Amino acid sequence: MDFWSPLAAPLLNGIAMLLALGFRRNRAVIVLAILTFASLALAGVVVSEPGDRGTEAARMFAPWLLLAAAAMPERRLLARRNLILLLLLAIAIWLTLAAPAHVWPALRGALPFGVLPWSAGAVAAVLTFLAAALCLLRWVLHGAPMEAGLSLVLALVAFALMPVMHLDTVRYAFALAGAGALSTILYASYRMAFVDALAGLPNRRALDEALARLSGDYALAMVDVDHFKQFNDTHGHDAGDRVLQSVAQQLRGTRGASAFRYGGEEFCLLFTGARMQLAKQACEHVRERIEQMRVRVRSVPSKPRRGQALRRNDPNEVKVTISIGLAERSAEVRAAADVLKAADTALYKAKAKGRNRVVAR
Ligand code: GH3
Ligand code: MG
Ligand code: MG
Repeated sequence: MDFWSPLAAPLLNGIAMLLALGFRRNRAVIVLAILTFASLALAGVVVSEPGDRGTEAARMFAPWLLLAAAAMPERRLLARRNLILLLLLAIAIWLTLAAPAHVWPALRGALPFGVLPWSAGAVAAVLTFLAAALCLLRWVLHGAPMEAGLSLVLALVAFALMPVMHLDTVRYAFALAGAGALSTILYASYRMAFVDALAGLPNRRALDEALARLSGDYALAMVDVDHFKQFNDTHGHDAGDRVLQSVAQQLRGTRGASAFRYGGEEFCLLFTGARMQLAKQACEHVRERIEQMRVRVRSVPSKPRRGQALRRNDPNEVKVTISIGLAERSAEVRAAADVLKAADTALYKAKAKGRNRVVAR
């Protein structure tokens, strides 16, 4: 137990780093490389002399590197900025392992620990909290779950680096940070595989899995935005994306159904265990809500008239309609692929009848 507990943190952070490398999360790779170095130093592995140089090295180097890594945008791993950070990390490791005795006090003076009236631990904690705050800001701005996870991991590391913490607590906190990073990377990868980034809805793969798991009866609605190609041509692709997000938001609120983005401007509503009549009512409801919905977009006409400047910043309210084809699993239509096909046929009929309507098979 005594042997393993100092090594838990470097192991967990190292495994999380390899996983991040596999999933091409390059900022996370660098953050975790720094945390692996710091936890190895805390475990007494990256230390050349007796004494607590490991703890000091972790507090002295890691926070600056973490702050720089948190401030950088996501780039390919071997981009110049990442290489510079990795080189700085290598220098920190070399200094911790092999710096001659007289260099160490000079380093303490060079990094602003001597200038600021705080202890090294307090400076380290503040810098790492700043790194956590940067990731939190990115999450607020862009909503990427990876950033929220990194922010929590860094906040935990910042607490651990505070001067009052006992070394065992610091090691446990680093191990917990490694476990948190592992969970974050796994969760972010799950989202990448099963959740559509634009609509924020589960994707077609998630639908296939949900259908494969279902054993009882269900109803399935195929939803398609009407004349959407024309909409894109008139208002621009960005406005189209905004509309798809709003449609997705409305579909998510459909009573008794789970919504999926099937692909392009097509969505699915899955009513498990619902009776056809209720599913049809819910579809009518959401069709009406979308018909009444107004989406504020910045319209960009694709073909401005000759001599007329492109009016890019004209805020505009736009509206769209949807058509829905509904089918249910029955004695004749049992396989999921057949239910999907039946819903698609019903959708085709809804389009043929003039769109903006629900047709049940
Ligand atoms: P219909 O009423 O018959 O469904 O006509 P439609 O124009 O909607 O159908 P069509 O299949 O011809 O065109 C679908 C369009 O949806 C074409 C494509 O540009 C647009 N589209 C698909 N995915 C996206 C997306 O993610 N964003 C945007 N903005 N447009 C998309
Ligand atoms: Mg379509
Ligand atoms: Mg369409």
